[in-house]
Parts: sequence; structure tokens; C-alpha cells
Amino acid sequence: MDRSAISVIGAGVAGLSCAVELSARGFAVDVVERASALGEGACSWMAGGMLAPWCERATTDEAVARLGAPSITWWLRNFPGTVQKGSLVVAPPRDAADLTRFAQRTERFEWIDGDGLGNLEPDLAGRFRRGLFFPDEAHLDPRKALAGLAATLAARNVPIRFGTTDARRRDPKLVVDCRGLAARGHLPDLRGVRGEMIVVHTRDISLSRPVRLLHPRIPLYIVPRGEGLFMIGATMIESEERRAVSLRSAVELMNAAYTLHPAFGEAEIVELGADLRPAFPDNLPHVRQVDGVLHANGLFRHGFLLAPWLAGQVADFLETRDEDLPERRRA
Ligand SMILES: Cc1cc2nc3c(=O)[nH]c(=O)nc-3n(C[C@H](O)[C@H](O)[C@H](O)COP(=O)(O)OP(=O)(O)OC[C@H]3O[C@@H](n4cnc5c(N)ncnc54)[C@H](O)[C@@H]3O)c2cc1C
Repeated sequence: MDRSAISVIGAGVAGLSCAVELSARGFAVDVVERASALGEGACSWMAGGMLAPWCERATTDEAVARLGAPSITWWLRNFPGTVQKGSLVVAPPRDAADLTRFAQRTERFEWIDGDGLGNLEPDLAGRFRRGLFFPDEAHLDPRKALAGLAATLAARNVPIRFGTTDARRRDPKLVVDCRGLAARGHLPDLRGVRGEMIVVHTRDISLSRPVRLLHPRIPLYIVPRGEGLFMIGATMIESEERRAVSLRSAVELMNAAYTLHPAFGEAEIVELGADLRPAFPDNLPHVRQVDGVLHANGLFRHGFLLAPWLAGQVADFLETRDEDLPERRRA
């Protein structure tokens, strides 16, 4: 039995996506998670959940859009809560030129005027003269998405063993390490990039899709989570300090929401959170073999966007390198 199964270590978005992909391809899998519950201590718990390959294209490597675009279909297939209503980018009048520069660096968008914006998001009518609409982009609630993947695994009889770090496999080739930043001992070029976010609640405004507000220092966005909840994210700081959200970051994030719509001024603050994104020097995810163990890591700020690609890479690798593959398949 021990030789016929793969252990995935870590139940963040990387580990769960790998387990879903491997089980879909017929591998017997189990998942080992150090925390006692899903999301506890996982960077994935703090994510915004934007599946925005073309918005990201404006500020990151072209690989992010190329590898991330197919993930929207993956999430629609694997998590029914995935919402594909596009996303919007706007800028305050003083930063209107930034909108043009943003548009020049990407694709798959439409320019919309103030009326177009109001048609898409009635509560934003009259607030901005123009914006960019990316109709093919999607978003999800990361916490519900992790729970959805866990439910899929349960339905496939893939166990998630909480509260342990023991993968039980004697053969390192049977282990897929998805520990995020905790794997740094084996991946010395992995670093943490601090991100901070806020969740607020208000019934005074509703949005159907994520909205980015161009800002000189922080790529700010607001993601609707339903039932009056909004996630406002996210700072990106080259620091590995694990501490609570700073006052400066909180003010920047709250100002962004207020600039988008003054109704956010009356919103209740539900949560302030911070974590460290696991990132390699090129800020792209990679699959690497270290002492026989396969590591899938480096999702940086694209955890939900690039986890399906990373999981596909892991599954392809295990399928093709493996002489004993038929034995490892479920009956
Ligand atoms: C504020 C913020 C906003 C973000 N917004 C977005 C966004 O909008 N879209 C997006 O795609 N990405 C976003 N990200 C990035 C995303 O959250 C990360 O890329 C992603 O969560 C990394 O996932 P992971 O599975 O590699 O790591 P993690 O989520 O950290 O998972 C690692 C898991 O391994 C477990 N573990 C550690 N050590 C052990 C061990 N020895 N044994 C067993 N288990 C172990 C941990 O407990 C944890 O559950 C954001 C991040 C932050 C901080």
C-alpha cells in the first residue's frame, strides 16, 4: 500500500490542487497538513482570489498570463463557486494616464466610459470617467475554494490528515512537497513577500466583480465575497516580518476603498490579515526535485491563478518519469 500512493504535504492551494489533479488522473493520494484545520497558518487563507491573468500581465512576466489563463476553466470545473463576470480597472482622475499605460502593457480588455461602468456596476455610476473591462477574468472566495477542493477530495476518498507532518512514505519519490514558505530549508532561494489585507462588511454598496484601483505604490483591489463582505488587498512588501498589519498599510487599503466609493467609509472592519507569499527570484512557480522529493512552490501573488498549472506540471512529471506508474494507479 505504502508504495502505491503519493503523499502531498501541505493543504494550501498548491497541495490541494495537486491532490485534486493527481486523484483525477488516477493516482492514489493522501494529504498531510501540519495545522489542525483547513487554512490555519496557510498563506492561501489570506488571498484575494482574483483569477486575473490579463490584469496581472500589465505588471508581471508574460508567463503569468500564458500559464494562468487556462486556470479559469480548471476552477470553473473544480469549484462551482467560481464567478466569471470579468474584472474592472479604474483610476482616480489624477492618475488617469496610468490607465493608458496599464492598457498598453496588456490585452483582452475593452475601454469603457462612465456609462459603461455604471451599466456593469450600478453603484459606481458617475464615479469614474472611464475604465478597463476584462470580460474573461474570474474570481472566487479562496476560503470557500479550499473547502470545495477538500470536499472533492473527500468524495474521492482522498484523506487529508490534519495535525501531522508525517508523510509516512519511506520513498521520497512518493512525496510531493507543497509546504509553501515552510519548505525554505530545502529551497534556499525561496523568499517571503509580505502581503496585508482587510475584510470589511457593508450593505451600502454592492459589486459583482473585482475592481482594481490604480495606485502609484500598491496594486490595490477590492473583491466582493457576497453577503456584504469585501476583501481589500494587498500590499507587497519585500519583508519576511510576521506581524500584524501596519497602520500605514491599513490606511492605504482603506483609502483605496473610500476612493472607489465613499460608502466604504461606513463599512465595518471584519478582519485585518497578513502573510508571506512564497516566491522564487523570478516570482514564478516551479516544480523541482530535491533529494528525490518533488517540490511545487513559488506561487508568489498568483496562488489561485497558477496552482492549476503547477498541479498539472506535478501530475505530468509523475506520470512520465514513473516506471511503476501502472502500480500506482488506482484499481
Ligand atoms: C494578502 C494576500 C493576497 C493575495 N491575493 C492573491 C490573489 O488575489 N490571487 C492569487 O492567486 N494569489 C493571491 N495571493 C497569493 C497566494 O495566497 C499564495 O501564492 C498561495 O497561498 C501560496 O500557496 P501555497 O499552497 O504554496 O502555500 P500555503 O497556502 O502557505 O500552504 C502551505 C501549507 O503547508 C502546511 N505546512 C507547512 N509545513 C508543513 C509540514 N511540515 N507538514 C505538513 N504541512 C505543512 C501549512 O500549514 C499550509 O497549510 C495572496 C497572498 C496574500 C498574502
